[in-house]
Amino acid sequence: MQGIYRAMSVPKTHPRYESLMRRERLIEGYKQGLVAEAGMIAHGRGEAFDYLLGEVTIPEAELAERAAASLLLNAGNPVISVNGNTAALCPAELAELARAIPAKLEVNLFYRTEERVARIVTHLEKHGATAVLGAEPDSQIPSLDHARALCTKEGIYSADVVLVPLEDGDRAQALRDMGKTTIVIDLNPLSRSSKTASVTIVDEVTRAIPNITRFVKELKGKPALAGFDNDVNLEKIIELIRQGHSSV
Ligand code: ATP
Repeated sequence: MQGIYRAMSVPKTHPRYESLMRRERLIEGYKQGLVAEAGMIAHGRGEAFDYLLGEVTIPEAELAERAAASLLLNAGNPVISVNGNTAALCPAELAELARAIPAKLEVNLFYRTEERVARIVTHLEKHGATAVLGAEPDSQIPSLDHARALCTKEGIYSADVVLVPLEDGDRAQALRDMGKTTIVIDLNPLSRSSKTASVTIVDEVTRAIPNITRFVKELKGKPALAGFDNDVNLEKIIELIRQGHSSV
């Protein structure tokens, strides 16, 4: 990789090392045609909230990750929806989570082009994913415009539990309207997606996905968890931000 941060050779001790490396992966993903231009801007909004939360997995995020793992394990047809940013940032981790549950992976894009879908499918497969859905949609999510509504019957359309990292608010709402349980990963606890989801994980996606995998392995074969309250959890996180939680 010949990116600007690599060229600047950021030392691992740099307080923002992980964050700079994520930017690097995203820029590389953009150059490879995986990430949309707007995806870079969306990442910036995420970074701002991560900064406010100290760039760590807060206990409220862990609680949500544990609840998400239990929901995915107990689902009839769990599906992980993948967009360009997520694929560029943590492809191998997505493949590992899908294997651990097991769940299907489906590429689903806000700025859909067939070429970008194909590139993302290939990228995921290169990192260990198998049978990635999304290139040949045969269904539509009701009440969304055509490109954003496209999905597969086998995957998102018939899923009972959908993990939608970095989702936009309209689609998160449309999936809820279809009666699905939705798990959103979004660093912004105020976004429409965060407010709409059944479970909102306010954590950086490259930390959240491996954390869910860890909980999936821990909870496998155990009874489903109960008692997670998404509204209460979100309120706590908003309060943390108000109080100036950041430790960086
Ligand atoms: P909504 O439509 O839900 O109100 P939005 O318009 O802010 O939200 P988008 O721009 O579609 O949403 O999506 C970007 C969202 O994803 C932002 O809320 C941002 O905080 C979050 N985000 C971006 N990058 C990451 C990341 N790496 N990890 C976790 N969350 C992220």
